[in-house]
Amino acid sequence: MVEINEVSVNRVLNPTAINLGDYVINPYVGCEFSCLYCYVRSNKVASKRKRPWGTYVDIRKNAPDLLEKEICEKKPKTVLLGSTTECFQPVEKKFQLTKRILEILNNHEVPYIILTRSPYVVEYIPLLNQRFCKRIYFTVNNYSDIFKQAIEPKSPSFVSRNIAIQALLDAGMPVIPYYSPVIPWVTEIKDAFSLFTTAERVDFEYLNFNLKNTQDIIKSISLTDRAREKNISRMFYEKNYYEQTWDTMDEEIERQASRANKRYKRYRHPFDAFFKNTYFD
Ligand code: SF4
Repeated sequence: MVEINEVSVNRVLNPTAINLGDYVINPYVGCEFSCLYCYVRSNKVASKRKRPWGTYVDIRKNAPDLLEKEICEKKPKTVLLGSTTECFQPVEKKFQLTKRILEILNNHEVPYIILTRSPYVVEYIPLLNQRFCKRIYFTVNNYSDIFKQAIEPKSPSFVSRNIAIQALLDAGMPVIPYYSPVIPWVTEIKDAFSLFTTAERVDFEYLNFNLKNTQDIIKSISLTDRAREKNISRMFYEKNYYEQTWDTMDEEIERQASRANKRYKRYRHPFDAFFKNTYFD
């Protein structure tokens, strides 16, 4: 059961170190999708909450009113939406904070970039089609059902996300299908390149082994396949094996991209670079 609280905040436009904008907006605190690999679980603010990540959502009900004022004061160049929450999670249907925020950004002609994995974003195509949405990174994957159940049971199905990505592409939106987290022996790279032929590129982010709950992720993987769990555990402890495995993944992506004649980007987390959270909000 997800606990919903309406809260007031002091500011809505927060400076960010993420190189996708000079400010971030997170209309909600918390996320109903509760992905096990979510990096927000590792952040200090979320760690201090009494309730575990995924069991609460705070509705920042005054966010749109504040935004009107802050845009005039801060004059943002580009705003990133959804760095620590999912802007289009189910509560959005009722509270519509993201909708109001998009309307305000459009009215003030402020460019924005969206991070999402929710097909509900499609409902907002008329708002997103008003020139100011510069990019949508739409997270997707292609794990088996049993594997998805182990690490992200509450997130929307991959099929529904594939349909949403295609709908956004068909509407002329600048969408990047974003495969994350790529997990060796689980994510099918070839299949990633067989979809979304009109996307300008496909991105891949490898599993981050530096999260606080990496052992929980490995334990969940063990529920699906002991052999796979053994290999992934080895990546956690052995730097050489970690690098070799991702090198092989790099080669596979390069091979499949060249076969499909597609552009791509990939993001690899360094081994043992303990998680440094610069995304506080
Ligand atoms: S949808 Fe995003 S914010 Fe929500 S739990 Fe998953 S990774 Fe975290």
